[in-house]
Amino acid sequence: QVRVRFAPSPTGPLHIGGVRTALFNYLFAKKHNGTFILRIEDTDQNRYVEGAENYIVESLNWCGISFDEGPGKNEKFGPYRQSERKHIYKEYADKLIASGNAYYAFDTSEALDFHRKDHEEKGKTFIYNWHNRLKLDNSLSLSAEETQEKLDAGEDYVIRFKSPQDETLHLTDIIRGNITIDTNVLDDKVLFKSDGMPTYHLANIVDDHLMEISHVIRGEEWLPSLALHYQLYKAFGWKAPEFAHLPLILKPTGKGKLSKRDGDKLGFPVFPLAYKDHKTDEVSRGYREDGYFPEAVVNFLAFLGWNPGTEQEIFSLEELIQAFDLSRVNKAGARFDPDKIKWFNHHYMQEQDNVDLAEQFKSLFTELKDIDVNYIAMAINLIKERATFVTDFWDLGHFFFETPSDLDEKAVKKAWKEDSSELMKELISVISNVEDYSVESLQTAIKGWIASKEIGFGKVMMPLRLALVGALQGPDVFDIMYLIGKNESIRRIENLIH
Ligand code: GLU
Repeated sequence: QVRVRFAPSPTGPLHIGGVRTALFNYLFAKKHNGTFILRIEDTDQNRYVEGAENYIVESLNWCGISFDEGPGKNEKFGPYRQSERKHIYKEYADKLIASGNAYYAFDTSEALDFHRKDHEEKGKTFIYNWHNRLKLDNSLSLSAEETQEKLDAGEDYVIRFKSPQDETLHLTDIIRGNITIDTNVLDDKVLFKSDGMPTYHLANIVDDHLMEISHVIRGEEWLPSLALHYQLYKAFGWKAPEFAHLPLILKPTGKGKLSKRDGDKLGFPVFPLAYKDHKTDEVSRGYREDGYFPEAVVNFLAFLGWNPGTEQEIFSLEELIQAFDLSRVNKAGARFDPDKIKWFNHHYMQEQDNVDLAEQFKSLFTELKDIDVNYIAMAINLIKERATFVTDFWDLGHFFFETPSDLDEKAVKKAWKEDSSELMKELISVISNVEDYSVESLQTAIKGWIASKEIGFGKVMMPLRLALVGALQGPDVFDIMYLIGKNESIRRIENLIH
């Protein structure tokens, strides 16, 4: 039975990379009829940020990535917030001490800094493991009585994992294959602190075990922790889940990891939703607020490190579930291409309901407040082919909603000739005579009149377009005339005649 979890720490807004991790977990779970769990890893009280959990849940909801178990939902393995599981972990830390896999350490941070510096000065790196253990202040260098005295005196302690000397670990990762690690390079990582809180490593392993997680799918930044995690499972005598470490997300240049600053610099969001930092009041942009459709974001994220092995690029969430396979996830970093997500957005724009789009558009522009949504929807239907965002509709189609002023000078020069006024006067009578005002009859009448006059099409269509749009771009002239109506069309042509 497949059970996977997304286990973010609520230390700030969820990065787009975090959403990708959640998505891959979700796809894998759904593909295998498994369970997707949300677990909040909030053991680090210093880094806890108010509101971050809500942000995570809201982001997942917006993307349509719904969890089966998590805070407030189907809590059979709950609670799902590690701060609410605090009472569970000490017992496991104690077990590791009893089995000789962990020990108490009392080093002050000053002492650790001193050792680090001292090593540095001698050109060596300080590793807290068998190399140095006996020089340090821990229960492996103290007698049992001395250790107990310190504990009884209420001294600050941590519990560290005792990493073995001269062993080679053989790890496997679904995406990366076999990995060997020499234990001599591993630090004795802290598992538990005297404030009663476990560290990430202990809580994560204990919870993955208790929640019966079958596969751990997470970002590459956790690969260095894999050796410790393997050893923890072994020390507890538990079966380890399978691991898959997803590739890094790289800057648009392909060089280096994507950072928050890259987004600010290059003008694209790196967060799913806009986020206001409570301390600095700084607002980070979000895909939702920037006008992206969740379908586009999901489709785009799926391709950050995965591909279906075919030419197909457009995938609904349902299709992604069918096609997704961890064996098609790359090891190599995935380049973040902000133009590609726009391309997806343009695609999904075409699939949106026009009335929905009209409502969104209307809410963004006060100019539209008195205009009927169905009319707006019809206009959108004519321009959306060229739009990437809802806000583009204004530039592409403002003339549906206001009489164009400020004519584009270049366009006037190009379109308005000496005989234009004369021709436009005649055109007005042609239009006036169109009885059933439809696109077809307008087309037949105007084209017929142009043919009978034996003049070039452009001689009429260019000044006409100029009058209707104020420029020489835009959708089909007959569609525009039909939509804005007979009177308005004539009025706009009259405006130009002098
Ligand atoms: N809490 C970790 C994070 O913030 C979870 C890492 C993992 O999935 O093991 O990403």
